[in-house]
Amino acid sequence: MYSVGIDVGSVAAKAVIFDGKKIVAKDIIPTGWSPKESGLFLYDKIKDSIHINDDQIKAIVGTGYGRVSLPFISKKVTEITCHGKGAHFIDPEIRTVIDIGGQDSKVIKMDENGHVIDFLMNDKCAAGTGRFLQVMAHILEIDVDDLSDIAKGAAPENINSMCTVFAESEVISLMASGASKESIAAGLLQSVCKKTYSLISKLNVEDKVFFSGGVSKNSLIKELLSERLGKEIISSDLSQFLGAIGAAVIGYEK
Ligand code: ADP
Repeated sequence: MYSVGIDVGSVAAKAVIFDGKKIVAKDIIPTGWSPKESGLFLYDKIKDSIHINDDQIKAIVGTGYGRVSLPFISKKVTEITCHGKGAHFIDPEIRTVIDIGGQDSKVIKMDENGHVIDFLMNDKCAAGTGRFLQVMAHILEIDVDDLSDIAKGAAPENINSMCTVFAESEVISLMASGASKESIAAGLLQSVCKKTYSLISKLNVEDKVFFSGGVSKNSLIKELLSERLGKEIISSDLSQFLGAIGAAVIGYEK
């Protein structure tokens, strides 16, 4: 038997299938305008990818902001709980998760059983999130995935605005004044780190620290955050799927 975890986020919908021991399938699509449609589409797509049917699925657990729109799921669980569970599944020694997604960032502390003991969340503004980087990458006419490579080694421009709209004007002014794409990109990544650090420094961050969410794919942000924190930060190719993994594990245990 299998369980399915579906995390419908603000930008991307992620799903995984769990067989009780390991993740046997994972998939990601843009959330688009309808969380319900994308959730349904993704559920069918991931089942087809390993040729299983509904009878072989014991539970479907939904998380992420779009979980309320999924009529076919057996249970809804908050992202915070799912991230804790997902991180514990990946490595039981993880005690802190830093998550930067499309529209919010959070820091979650867990005990040795993967239970959440404390968390903080910034969901009040887009600055310091993946959406902020998407907007800025668009202005710079580069792909979000290339931000890290472009910024590496460049002297960062100072980007002081802590608001996406003002930061956008700042970037446009910097471009007009002849600043290079490399140094602007470096400044933008620094600004995400600054914002994230101001959140995570409010909690006593303990080892091991795991970086999740789409922004964790940015290796320079991971490096800069680790320097600021004075701790090693780990991530994996499952980092963006952490919420979906936690949901699937919860579903299997149910
Ligand atoms: P959500 O759950 O809110 O949909 P995700 O955790 O799936 O968010 O992350 C989506 C975000 O990750 C997008 O806003 C995107 O800009 C960002 N992202 C994806 N790849 C990268 C990358 N290589 N560097 C920086 N940000 C990235």
